[in-house]
Amino acid sequence: MYNKILVAVDLSNDAKKVIETAVRMAAGAADNLHLVHVVEPVAAAYSMDIYAVNINELQQEAINMAEKRLEKIGGDIGLGSDRTHTLLGAPAPEIRDLAAELGADAIVIGSHGHAGWKILLGSTAIKLLHGATCDVLTVHVGADE
Ligand code: AMP
Repeated sequence: MYNKILVAVDLSNDAKKVIETAVRMAAGAADNLHLVHVVEPVAAAYSMDIYAVNINELQQEAINMAEKRLEKIGGDIGLGSDRTHTLLGAPAPEIRDLAAELGADAIVIGSHGHAGWKILLGSTAIKLLHGATCDVLTVHVGADE
């Protein structure tokens, strides 16, 4: 039985299935769960003055929106905001580092996500497996769902 499970949530429709599996793994003890979503940095190319866009504001807005959505998802399964983590960076290393920081003994991740179905396993899941220091469970999500 796992004591602390970190669930990687990409905020897509498939995230529901990933979370449901993690809830089952936690044997109903929602206290054992943490959710994480990683917002990827807005591409530097868009920060050119010509677009007259404040890149920091844009970035912060994306983080705030993601945070709200993740807190809502967490709230729906009884998790307080201390159990939801919205981070900025590259998904795989951020998820891996947070798992280590929390002392998680398992990470639950979808087999695929926004990156598409063309590869055997989603790119985030593959990258996460490299260097993970705890168990990693991939939940099958796919076009055939
Ligand atoms: P992908 O690499 O896009 O095929 O996504 C595979 C799985 O990685 C998803 O089902 C999520 O569980 C997780 N994932 C992808 N992107 C993120 C993200 N930005 N934040 C948290 N988890 C993610």
